[in-house]
Amino acid sequence: MSNMYLISFGEIALKGENRPFFERILIQRMKQALKGFDNVRIQKTHGRIYCFADGAREDVISRLKKVFGIVAISPAYPCELEMNSIKEAALRAVKEVDYRGKTFKVETRRPNKSFPLKSPDVSREVGAYLLKNLEGLKVDVHHPDIEVDVEIRERGFVYCRRIPGPGGLPLGCNGRAVLLLSGGIDSPVAGYMMMKRGVEIEPVYFHSFPFTSDRAKEKVIELCKILAEYSGNMRLHVVNFTDVLKELGQKGPDELLTILMRRMMVRISQEIAARVGAKALVTGESVGQVASQTMEALSATDEVARMPIFRPVIGFDKVEIMELAKKIGTYDISIEPYADCCTVFVPEHPRTRPELDDVHEAEEKFDIEELVRMGMRDVELVDIKKVV
Ligand code: ATP
Ligand code: MG
Repeated sequence: MSNMYLISFGEIALKGENRPFFERILIQRMKQALKGFDNVRIQKTHGRIYCFADGAREDVISRLKKVFGIVAISPAYPCELEMNSIKEAALRAVKEVDYRGKTFKVETRRPNKSFPLKSPDVSREVGAYLLKNLEGLKVDVHHPDIEVDVEIRERGFVYCRRIPGPGGLPLGCNGRAVLLLSGGIDSPVAGYMMMKRGVEIEPVYFHSFPFTSDRAKEKVIELCKILAEYSGNMRLHVVNFTDVLKELGQKGPDELLTILMRRMMVRISQEIAARVGAKALVTGESVGQVASQTMEALSATDEVARMPIFRPVIGFDKVEIMELAKKIGTYDISIEPYADCCTVFVPEHPRTRPELDDVHEAEEKFDIEELVRMGMRDVELVDIKKVV
């Protein structure tokens, strides 16, 4: 039999005229997330979404926990609009949680005024019934461990768990951006944060074989798979960056290599953005973390950008980024020790405060357009399938 879930979706409820648009995307994302479960039905009524699906509750919940826009998921127990049925549903709901030795209260909402009993009376009757039928449960109306919610609407249901969802906005309601995804800790977190704001992500990885091993590429693919748990299928663009790097390394001044490389990454990423209809770039840079992330270096990177570069972890400490990475599930993969091109090509004395004039002068030695073409020559597309 289908189980019922009540879905709360805080922020999108505030979106005024756009609300139907956000709700439609959210429902679409929920359906995608629940692919494989039988009898999935999703209904929308006054600021709430009801979801029905066959299958083990914990499995359904673990999928819904990765749908952006969902603030909370409550396993709900439907009932007839009739006291005996309400009591039975409440009993089933509480039996599902670890209630022994806990306190509880019943809270009733009754927008459906055709129901004869008033809310406080319903709460009282249900509370008494639970006390009689469950051992080790006590009442505490001020700070209960368990709040048993009875809702009497066009239909009736009871719930007592609120499992937090990821929050944010449904994926796809805010366009698309190219994520510069290295194998490090920061960029997957940056991608997650943008996805959480409803932005679809198109990841790009600059691969520099043989300076970086194919294992480094595998690592990025693994990271994409984790991100895909939240986003659904995605496509990774692997740029063959070796020739560009060699050129830069041969003709460019050592101390500006990092910044020249970053500028090339931005230029090439923009070409990819144009191909896929993305309107922004996303990186995992954070101020002051490494030589290439000073204010001056960041503006030297921005100078070549024709679209905004979002850096959602810009103000985070490393520790904070690491915590998020653990929560998302990317951390263990990120810390595997496979060098990326930035660590292989770190010059001995990188210029931390590059002057734009010097950067321009250094770039005069190159045919930049040609370098971009070189980078775009054999971009490998890797389809990342969401693993469930
Ligand atoms: P991360 O942990 O994300 O690797 P980081 O702190 O190591 O970041 P850098 O290596 O300087 O910092 O890279 C800064 C940002 O540039 C990365 O967060 C990522 O967005 C992008 N980047 C760096 N190297 C690559 C690469 N090989 N492919 C794609 N993007 C890259
Ligand atoms: Mg890195």
